Amino acid sequence: MSDRFDVVVIGGGPAGYPAAIRAAQNKLTVACIDEWRNTDGSHAFGGTCLNAGCIPSKALLESSELYHRAREEFAVHGIALTGVALDLAAMQRRRAAIVKTMTGGINALFKSGGVTPVQGHGRLLPGNRVQVTAADGSQRILQAAQVVLASGSVPVRLRSVPHDGRRIVDSWNALEFDAVPARLGVIGAGVIGLELGSVWRRLGSEVTILEATEQFLPIADQAIAREALRHFKKQGLDLRLGAKVASAAVAGEVVDLRYTDARGEHSLQVDKLVVAVGRRPFTDDLLAEGTGVQVDARGFIEVDEHCRTAAANVWAVGDVVRGPMLAHRGKEEGVMVADLIAGRYGEVNYRTIPSVIYTSPEIAWVGQTEEQVKASGRPYKVGTFPFAASGRARAMEAAQGMAKVIAAADDDEVLGVHVIGPMAGELIGEAMLAMEYSASTEDIQRTIHAHPTLSEAIHEAALAVDKKAIDAINR
Ligand code: FAD
Ligand code: AMP
Repeated sequence: MSDRFDVVVIGGGPAGYPAAIRAAQNKLTVACIDEWRNTDGSHAFGGTCLNAGCIPSKALLESSELYHRAREEFAVHGIALTGVALDLAAMQRRRAAIVKTMTGGINALFKSGGVTPVQGHGRLLPGNRVQVTAADGSQRILQAAQVVLASGSVPVRLRSVPHDGRRIVDSWNALEFDAVPARLGVIGAGVIGLELGSVWRRLGSEVTILEATEQFLPIADQAIAREALRHFKKQGLDLRLGAKVASAAVAGEVVDLRYTDARGEHSLQVDKLVVAVGRRPFTDDLLAEGTGVQVDARGFIEVDEHCRTAAANVWAVGDVVRGPMLAHRGKEEGVMVADLIAGRYGEVNYRTIPSVIYTSPEIAWVGQTEEQVKASGRPYKVGTFPFAASGRARAMEAAQGMAKVIAAADDDEVLGVHVIGPMAGELIGEAMLAMEYSASTEDIQRTIHAHPTLSEAIHEAALAVDKKAIDAINR
């Protein structure tokens, strides 16, 4: 194999592997280096997203939701089930099989696309040379005209809550439990904490989520966050806000944890404790002295809006750079960089990056929250539509939540769309396209939406912005 490439990508997650594929599509010679190791020691491309994040979590969310619905909801449809039983081993085998298929797919894409896969640890040396250390310790140097750093992120660990991988665990461990914990503690009510808490609650755990901030989901529109909190509490998630965990320790077969809130100090015993307090950029042993790449105080590689680092011909994309830690943001950055390297046009519209929380009800949004629009001082108008008025949502036994459209009062431009309800993550696609084209609410109002579909909720919310909703009372 040649050791000279037009492009060397370090990291084969959802930011790195699309960069490699697009670079190859652009007729450049490309190598993608990745060091991911699964718990059984095997290598797989796909990074956190495919191996320990987006994909396995969605597999378990889907399975656990079906189990929950079979037990709680099917009777409402007139379907009587007896003997519904959980086979967690089978559920976990399915999760693992989906991950294996998806990660294997990347190898196939590399093969057909002409990307050279390299397993091992990549380290950038001065002069655009990349040192690769394989699992057996052997080393080689690749020479690259351009380097893309896509080394991703790892879970934040709390010093006073020592990880042991068995009782005190991270999100990856919590996706691979082989038994349902009777009592599960989760530190952090962010996206990952809520999704994992939901999975194990549906499968039977008593789940307590401790969140340091008083405000629930500060990143979301607060009308949506309030609605979500109400549903999560109703589902039995014991969500304690303003509860800051001070320490935790394993004592025999349980975890003893201490936290403080406005009322003072408390203790809690759980069987397993998931630390889901965020992720940090991963740059361990990535940059040798003298590369010229700058890292900020929080550990992120510094880049401009086109993901150029301070070093010539070195780029960085995905979780290792500023911005929301989301797979699709990394993917778009990877593709943009590969196009810019080839002398083509490339841009990421950071204003239209969607967020999705795959709980039930699902939460999704794009653009600004009402709080952000209000703070900007721009006059605005709001329209909402409850899924309780959606025939399709009723038929699905999922008539919870709402769609909310926020638009500029002056020129009617859509500024933000927020959905809590069935298939919110799919529904938000329409809003992303609308905002990408700088649509007005009138554009959405005049677009025909099939009946009866969930998408009518966005249509009606857009109509409600001008008090023209047909299927709901205009307020
Ligand atoms: P990563 O996916 O972390 O990949 C980096 C890769 O580079 C890894 O394989 C790593 O081993 C490798 N690497 C690092 N350093 C080196 C080196 N020096 N040499 C060689 N290889 C190296 N995001 C969503 O958009 N939607 C979701 O539903 C979602 N769900 C999530 C659920 C969970 C439980 C978690 C933990 C995360 C979730 N995320 C989700 C976030 C998403 O996984 C990340 O945003 C995404 O994986 C970041 O992609 P990346 O390519 O930048 O980094
Ligand atoms: P995210 O960054 O979205 O994954 O969310 C992580 C959440 O963990 C944030 O909402 C933090 O406020 C919360 N958090 C961080 N440290 C603690 C702690 N010691 N106790 C409770 N919650 C915490």
